[in-house]
Amino acid sequence: MTPQEYIDLESDFGAHNYHPLPVVLERGEGVYVYDVTGKKYLDFLSAYSAVNQGHCHPRLVKAISEQASRLTLSSRAFHTNLLGSTEKKLADKFGYEKVLLMNTGVEAGESAIKLARKWAYEVKGVPANQAEIIFAEGNFWGRTIAAVSSSNDPSSYHNFGPFVPGFSRIPYNDLAALEEKLQNPHVAAFMVEPIQGEAGVVIPSPGYLKKAAALCKKHRVLFIADEIQTGLGRTGAWLACHHELVHPDILLLGKALSGGFMPVSAVLCNDEIMLTIKPGEHGSTYGGNPLACAVTNVAIDIIEDEDLVENSTVRGQQLLTFLESLRDKTALIKSVRGKGLLCAIEIDTDEDSHVAWEICLDLMKKGLLAKPTHGNKIRLAPPLTITGAEMDQACSIIDKVFLGY
Ligand SMILES: *Cc1c(COP(=O)(O)O)cnc(C)c1O
Repeated sequence: MTPQEYIDLESDFGAHNYHPLPVVLERGEGVYVYDVTGKKYLDFLSAYSAVNQGHCHPRLVKAISEQASRLTLSSRAFHTNLLGSTEKKLADKFGYEKVLLMNTGVEAGESAIKLARKWAYEVKGVPANQAEIIFAEGNFWGRTIAAVSSSNDPSSYHNFGPFVPGFSRIPYNDLAALEEKLQNPHVAAFMVEPIQGEAGVVIPSPGYLKKAAALCKKHRVLFIADEIQTGLGRTGAWLACHHELVHPDILLLGKALSGGFMPVSAVLCNDEIMLTIKPGEHGSTYGGNPLACAVTNVAIDIIEDEDLVENSTVRGQQLLTFLESLRDKTALIKSVRGKGLLCAIEIDTDEDSHVAWEICLDLMKKGLLAKPTHGNKIRLAPPLTITGAEMDQACSIIDKVFLGY
């Protein structure tokens, strides 16, 4: 089949809920992916930071294959020999008493909201059905009804109502707005991304997270950090919150927790919060399955053993330095930004312009895959395993594309 035939097949039989670049991938290895014609690309999206460990990492291939022939799913009706040690590994690593394993990131978000509401009623003493959760404008945490109920992006919420009550929104990076909302004694939690990934790598002012967490503590409101995209080394720290020494009350992980092998997400918090949910009150058939546990254990070890957090800092700096010099050479770029290997170029056009899309098509032709987010922003987020030479190669492609315009 030709690439176009694969694309047509998807279009004919699949829902039209995505607008992919016209490339048909069939293989991945490390920072590279290959299309059906054998053409090789640097992957600068990393499946939205799910593939921090690089594509098809051999240790993950081994872990999933071995576990797949032993036991894949038991459901939580029974114990397994893997769940407890995976929970302990995550709890110890991030400093929490308890861990709840789910599957997709959005389920981790849903679970955190359920926990925050339970905690509000049973520990904080908020009157029944009055709990409020605060979100930031520009947030993205998935596509369920609860997630789109918290969104101010029309493409997320338009015609999907009615929406979940008890949610409110404040501008991102606005401590005064947060403090004002916190005056309401019924607030249960503030859920926020330390850097807003889907919004276009929006980095708050230094000190924002630390002060926001302190304000929440002062008002006895849970600080929920959605680190599903920013966590696990992506920004040059195990957690983006660590840059400001913030320890969230509830931490959400996902995406790279399995290194791209299967959906695995986790909610981490202490007993006071986690134990408000009792047997039968929450769960998921696949949550914490043996395959997920085997993969997660190794996915964490790879980040540790290969110093990927440190590499994210060093290669991120290499990329950002290049982007800053590129910005000064072309009027096409409005701004560049990044932390570790979560970087973005903002094109100097409005959000509905096709320029960023055209640039991504050109990058693709020259062997680098990236995708516009919110129209005029191009996120650059390769696997954290990228070497200096591979980054040089990427920078030279980006340079050619931008200076060719
Ligand atoms: C991707 C993402 C999610 C949702 O994860 P899914 O696995 O797609 O459900 C939640 N929060 C953030 C910050 C994300 O980037």
